[in-house]
Amino acid sequence: MKYALQGHDRDNGVQEMLISLLPDESHDKAEELTGEGCFSRAWEENGEICASARIVRGEKEGFFEARKPIPTETDGEEYKRVLTWCVKTAVYQALVPLLDKRPAWGSMTGVKPAKPARLAIREGMDPTQLDAWLDTHYDVTENRRKLCIRAAEYSLSAEDSLLPRETQLYIGIPFCPAKCSYCSFVSNDMTRWGHMVQPYVDCLLKEVEAAGKLLRENGIPLGSIYIGGGTPTTLNEGQLEALLTAVDTHFDRSVCREYTVEAGRPETITEEKLRIMAAHKVTRISINPQTMNDKVLEGVGRRHTAEDIVRCYEMARKVSDFVINMDLIAGLPGDNDDGLVDSVRRVAALDPDNITIHCLARKRGARLYFGPTGELPSETLDACYAILEDKGFEPYYLYRQKYMAGGLENVGFCKKGTASHYNICMMEELSDVIALGSGGVSKLCSQGGRKVNRVVNPKFPKEYIERIDTIVKGKEELLDE
Ligand code: SF4
Repeated sequence: MKYALQGHDRDNGVQEMLISLLPDESHDKAEELTGEGCFSRAWEENGEICASARIVRGEKEGFFEARKPIPTETDGEEYKRVLTWCVKTAVYQALVPLLDKRPAWGSMTGVKPAKPARLAIREGMDPTQLDAWLDTHYDVTENRRKLCIRAAEYSLSAEDSLLPRETQLYIGIPFCPAKCSYCSFVSNDMTRWGHMVQPYVDCLLKEVEAAGKLLRENGIPLGSIYIGGGTPTTLNEGQLEALLTAVDTHFDRSVCREYTVEAGRPETITEEKLRIMAAHKVTRISINPQTMNDKVLEGVGRRHTAEDIVRCYEMARKVSDFVINMDLIAGLPGDNDDGLVDSVRRVAALDPDNITIHCLARKRGARLYFGPTGELPSETLDACYAILEDKGFEPYYLYRQKYMAGGLENVGFCKKGTASHYNICMMEELSDVIALGSGGVSKLCSQGGRKVNRVVNPKFPKEYIERIDTIVKGKEELLDE
């Protein structure tokens, strides 16, 4: 849709709202509009910030005007926030009546819906007031408000449990046995990049040592460790042993409450690797089916079956008392509503401790870029969530992405006492995260996550290996920035 602005510079706000409501269309700014499009205007009047949107779409036309008092603070940040809210709300309210369906998340476009909810509770709102605020301020539907409030409650309790200066550690292994068709991560196919794994691990061990030194010398407590990817279990037994030994050697884990290895794909998981993890006191692993439908698995390039998942899960249960997470994806090509519900039932029947349901995000980095695939109805996800809640799971963290199927969300569910501390801290930006390996993004957070300074490692393993000395030096000096 073409859009034009008058009286404000909230270009991003208008773009975000149009992408969120019309994800399959492109949205371009125009100097002026004739015919179809969105005309967004803002002005001040009688002590208020006012914004209007007029939208013409085919035969239909919508108009809305939003207003809020001009804030009294002087640094300009609150003024910008209120102006953005007015501009986005006007576009949302003008456009939604022209669509077939009210979006589940209303006018909330942020990727971390629980974060403003947590901050609102911190500022004194109780859950009833928060529910009303999400409804009136953002037009969020009832089931999403519930999800948001429960995730905010989990994040508040994680925040309250943080030690002074507590930091979380992420270690990335950017290799996979083969690339899934929907994947937009930097995951390097082992058939092509397998020769780089050993040099990559050698460099990673240097960065582990530098990060360990940084935390020890600064007396910073380590709250959790997350080894993710890619697929960390693409490392062979010797490489995995070397990495976990380096973590043991260089980090003080005396207050570390959780240690995750995202095993991921069953064809990479062996009993010996599970035993190595158990010996190094890994506490949490992921075994990710994505779907329990073999045809869909084959269609997206996963080289395992649902039966492999069950076998792997049972093997992990025999080896140790790991907290086990299992990921599913809603909206995979070839899947449908019944297939998703069936996968959720079958995975829940295995009785893992955590289940995470992702909605497919259509990203241009993926080998298979989807065109319009139809809506993933929020009612289908609600049915999946109800199955999990019946089995004793609670939603504990959530996030959204642009271009997500149906504009919905990714939700982590947990059985009581098994919520992942790392996932909450990272998603809600509650504490610093030091990230190692290619593509790692360290986050230095302040003011309860309101300010986040990001320090980024090179994206690709080749570049990471070439620049390891500079990266190690940067790690040693990370906290001086
Ligand atoms: S296993 Fe995960 S990271 Fe690897 S290609 Fe598939 S989706 Fe991407």
